[in-house]
Amino acid sequence: MSRQLVVVGAGPGGLSTALAAHALGVDVVVLERDPEDRARPGSRALFLHRDSLRLLERASAGLGRRLGERGLVWRRRTTMYRGRTVYSEELPTAAEAGLPPFTSLRQIDTEAILREAVAAAGIEVVYGVNIISVQPESTEVVARSADGRCWRSSYLVAADGSRSEVRESLGIALLGARSDSHHVVIDVAGEPARKERIFHYHHPKLDGRHVLIVPFAGGCQVDLQCSADDDPDQWSGMDEVSRWLPLVLDDDGSHRVLWCARYPFLQRVAASMADPSGRVLLVGEAGHLFAPFGARGMNSAIADADAAACAVACALAARTPGRAQAAVLDYSRIRGAAAEFNCAAAGAALRHMRPASAAERLAQSGAALLAPLVPRLGSWLEHAPYGPRVAATIGPSRY
Ligand SMILES: Cc1cc2nc3c(=O)[nH]c(=O)nc-3n(C[C@H](O)[C@H](O)[C@H](O)COP(=O)(O)OP(=O)(O)OC[C@H]3O[C@@H](n4cnc5c(N)ncnc54)[C@H](O)[C@@H]3O)c2cc1C
Repeated sequence: MSRQLVVVGAGPGGLSTALAAHALGVDVVVLERDPEDRARPGSRALFLHRDSLRLLERASAGLGRRLGERGLVWRRRTTMYRGRTVYSEELPTAAEAGLPPFTSLRQIDTEAILREAVAAAGIEVVYGVNIISVQPESTEVVARSADGRCWRSSYLVAADGSRSEVRESLGIALLGARSDSHHVVIDVAGEPARKERIFHYHHPKLDGRHVLIVPFAGGCQVDLQCSADDDPDQWSGMDEVSRWLPLVLDDDGSHRVLWCARYPFLQRVAASMADPSGRVLLVGEAGHLFAPFGARGMNSAIADADAAACAVACALAARTPGRAQAAVLDYSRIRGAAAEFNCAAAGAALRHMRPASAAERLAQSGAALLAPLVPRLGSWLEHAPYGPRVAATIGPSRY
């Protein structure tokens, strides 16, 4: 049976695409490589912007609200420089149309809530399907799985993550850079007493390494930036973590560590967010990889998903093949530009956190010194690690 839309991948990007497409009346099926009962490790993407909650609310009534209720809205954000507070701000937490300004919950919890919404909408998800090739043809696209099955559809969304087989099979290159240095990320169970997001420049108890502490519903995530000459293994093993973690938390959280991983900073964008024929659209990490700072990964995947669903609905309704193709290529242009913006923003954040020149280092230490007298310098130190802001870091969505 041929479907209107096949979505490959049931991560946040794929599930959001399926919901948005279904809301627009598109007949959609999701194909996922992993089994239904898989356990994904770690908190990973925590922060959902209100803009993302709005898009999800539009795709499935009540979904944005449920995510907002399930997550944590922290009350304060603080920046420290060598152990001294240089910025601290109470945050507005009022809801708009039932949606908080943001919410913080583990990605596995977000995915579970998305899966519930997908099931409630009656959208079919087929688990255990490993798609290994995708072939666009003149009127449809054919996806083939490792076990020899074949799916035909008018359009296909590749939401199969950073190692996208679909992108590979279409020969779309992923361009960009990867930092040599590493971050170590840890989940600690138990909500911190202070519901506060704290960034430490040059933590005095960690020989000047930067540390970010982000609370989420049920715990907190601690992100340590290794120095350029650190061996990340010396920081990411459980024994090593129990040595340094108590130095940065108010209490000794080392016995409550749930997950520990390390990652490099990535700034990569696909050469195109759609194949030239306009049958296949890339969504989320299939199309771009950004560092977590700035919360661009999952939030931009949700914006891609919304835009991809719109593009597919427009293409299906188009009167001519040319117009249908134009709708998809517009998607590629607009979300490609958003991805480039996010990639550059992640690069700016990385340069700020690892200043290359003495002048940049001096600017930061000078700003820290003067912050009590010149609040905008404290504000700069607070915001710069996340890169420049755009109407929500995720770029335009509808067109
Ligand atoms: C350690 C770590 C920390 C992170 N922290 C943050 C953060 O703080 N903030 C942030 O915004 N982002 C963060 N991210 C990134 C965030 O997790 C991703 O942006 C998000 O998961 C992207 O969603 P996605 O749906 O595009 O891809 P994924 O979540 O990777 O989903 C892809 C899905 O496709 C399936 N799949 C893959 N190949 C196939 C195939 N061939 N056939 C069928 N199905 C397939 C996979 O099983 C998976 O279910 C982090 C990532 C990691 C690894």
